[in-house]
Amino acid sequence: MLQIECPWCGPRDQSEFSCGGEAHISRPLEPDALDDIEWADYLFFRKNPCGRHYEQWCHIFGCRRWFNAIRDTVTYKFIAYYEMGANPPELD
Ligand SMILES: [Zn+2]
Repeated sequence: MLQIECPWCGPRDQSEFSCGGEAHISRPLEPDALDDIEWADYLFFRKNPCGRHYEQWCHIFGCRRWFNAIRDTVTYKFIAYYEMGANPPELD
C-alpha cells in the first residue's frame, strides 16, 4: 500500500488520506468580472501532468489536517510535503 507522510503524524497508509485535488487554485478576487470561459476554467479545468503534480491532501482518518504534497504521477512517489498556504519547496 502507498505510504503518505503526514507532516504532523508521520508516515501512514494511503487509506487514511483523502486527496483534495490540485493545489494552488485560488478563488478569483472578482468573480463577477470573469466571463463564462474564465469561470469554467476556474471551476472545471485542471492540469493533468505526466510527472510532478502539486496536490492537496487531508489526513481524514488521523489528525484531519490539510497539507500540500508534490507527487510524481508516473511513479506515484511523493516528492515533498509542505503546509497549506506555503510556497512549494525548491526542487531540482
Ligand atoms: Zn496527520
